Amino acid sequence: MIDTLPISIVSRLIEESPDAVLVIDEHGDIRYLNEAMQALSGYAPAEAIGQSINGLLPAPDVSDHQEYLQRFLESANPANVLEHVREFAIRHRTGDPIAVDMKALDLGVVDGVRYFGAFMTDLRPRHQAEAKNAELLAQLEQQALSDALTRLPNRRAFGVEAARMVSRAKRSSAQITVGIADIDFFKKVNDTYGHPTGDEVLVAVSAVLLQAARESDFVARIGGEEFGLLFPDATPDTASAVAERMRGAVADLPVKTASGVELRVTISIGLAPFHDSLSEALSNADKALYQAKHNGRNRVEQA
Ligand code: GH3
Ligand code: MG
Ligand code: MG
Repeated sequence: MIDTLPISIVSRLIEESPDAVLVIDEHGDIRYLNEAMQALSGYAPAEAIGQSINGLLPAPDVSDHQEYLQRFLESANPANVLEHVREFAIRHRTGDPIAVDMKALDLGVVDGVRYFGAFMTDLRPRHQAEAKNAELLAQLEQQALSDALTRLPNRRAFGVEAARMVSRAKRSSAQITVGIADIDFFKKVNDTYGHPTGDEVLVAVSAVLLQAARESDFVARIGGEEFGLLFPDATPDTASAVAERMRGAVADLPVKTASGVELRVTISIGLAPFHDSLSEALSNADKALYQAKHNGRNRVEQA
C-alpha cells in the first residue's frame, strides 16, 4: 500500500511524474502543480498557486468550468467526466491552447476542503505525428494516381475517374465518350533525337491536351505515348469537336527542347461511346484509333 511509504517518497514521485499533475480546491483555486505541469503551462509555482484555474482554461470554457464545478459540488453524483480520460485543452501562459488528455479526479474532503486533481498528457506530439502521417498518406495517394513524368493522372486514376463518371451519368442519363490519343511515329522521335527529348515531347503534348480539353474532360497518361480521354456530358459530335481541337493544337505546337531542337509531332485519336464497361469502350476506341492510323494519322476517328 502506498500509505506505508514515507510521504516524501510519494511527493517526489508525483513531483517528477512525466504526466502533468494539477490539484485545485473546491473554489477552483490552484493548490499544486508538478514540474511537468509547470513545463506544460509555462507557470512557475509562485505565479500559479492560489490563482484561479480560469487562467489555465481556454477562454470559451471558463463559464462552463465554473458551472461544472458548481454542479459537481451541488450534486451527490459526480458528473461522469470525472475519472475518465478525455481530450481537453488548457491555455499556456503565452495564451496558446494546448491539447491534452486529461483524467480528473475528486480527491475528497480534507479539513473541510474538497480537492480535485488532474493528470494531463500533452497531445501535441501525437497530433503533430498524426498530421504528418495524414500529409504523407495524401502524398502517397497522389503519387499512386499520377504519372511522374507528365504529372497527368495515370492509368489507375483514369479507371477511378471513369467509374465515377459512369455512376454520375447514370443518374442524369448523360452520355460519355472515351478516347485514346496516341502520338504518331513516336519511336522515330526517340530514335532521331534520343529518349530525353522524347520525354520532353510527352510533357509538352500533355500540357497541350489539357489546355484544349474542356473543364469537365479528363486527360490521363495511360501508356507510354498514349493518353486516355474522358468526355462527360458529350454527344459523339461534341466529343469529336473537342478531340479535333486537341489534334489541331498538338499539330500546331512547335516543341522546343532543352537541347535546342525544335520539332513537331502529331497525334491520332480514336473515340467510342462509354456505357458500362470501360474495357469494352477502350477496346472500341482502340479500334477507331487503328483506323485513324490506317487512314493516314493526324486524324480523329469514331467507333
Ligand atoms: P504509331 O504512329 O503507329 O503510333 O507509331 P509509334 O512509333 O508512335 O508507335 P510504337 O508503338 O512503335 O512506339 C511507341 C514508342 O514510344 C516506343 C517507346 O520507346 C516510346 N515510349 C514509350 N514510353 C516512353 C517514355 O516514357 N519516354 C520516351 N521517350 N519514349 C517512350
Ligand atoms: Mg502507342
Ligand atoms: Mg504512337
